[in-house]
Amino acid sequence: AVRTKRLVRKFGDRVVLKELDLTIAPGEFTALLGRSGSGKSTLPQAVARLDHTEEGSGELTVPERVSFSFQDSRLLPWLRVLDNVILGLRGPGARERGLTALAEVGLAGRDRSWPHELSGGEQQRAALARALVREPELLLADEPFGALDALTRIKMHGLLRELYERHRPAVLLVTHDVDEAVELADRVLVLDEGLISVDLAIDLPTPRSRRDARFQEYRDTL
Ligand code: ATP
Ligand code: MG
Repeated sequence: AVRTKRLVRKFGDRVVLKELDLTIAPGEFTALLGRSGSGKSTLPQAVARLDHTEEGSGELTVPERVSFSFQDSRLLPWLRVLDNVILGLRGPGARERGLTALAEVGLAGRDRSWPHELSGGEQQRAALARALVREPELLLADEPFGALDALTRIKMHGLLRELYERHRPAVLLVTHDVDEAVELADRVLVLDEGLISVDLAIDLPTPRSRRDARFQEYRDTL
């Protein structure tokens, strides 16, 4: 789904990405760890071509449909929740798809709410619905749960993994939380000195949220 070759990003003298090679396969759930300032945000922004630095080079292959989810949910305050979710979507089916996506993240019935009427966790859910309604082949998420309290974050972990299992986009989840990375992702990367210093497949004992997701599937069959 994603391939970078010798990707370089600089801000003035500061080289943030140093000839970085990275491949993420279709449907692969990857987490990106790294110290503050290591370039974790720079990488997905470069991949999404959202960065504004002139100083870059390298090759970049990305799929057509990419969704970006930000740390602060970035809902537009002047649009109702549903209109935020389907912003930019065209066609007669857009409304229905938006409503389905809202139901999927547990926000059925909140389509006519304003963003400020939602809690932080609900706003993040709406942001996830907005990302998923586009049926992305690649989901880039930069600390999407950073602003949430610990309990809400745990709930969102379960939801994100569940949505991932259902839609199977490739995911690059930026986080500074090692537990979050190990719990959610199947592959964990560490960015250090502008390069991927650790690239680890996670096949350790089943983390709790995944076990819960499987239990949910089992219950659904009863
Ligand atoms: P954090 O964990 O704090 O979010 P990060 O790993 O996401 O950090 P980046 O935001 O990618 O780090 O920034 C990497 C480096 O690039 C930092 O040293 C930062 O100061 C610098 N940088 C990022 N964006 C810009 C910019 N627009 N102009 C100048 N320097 C920038
Ligand atoms: Mg960052």
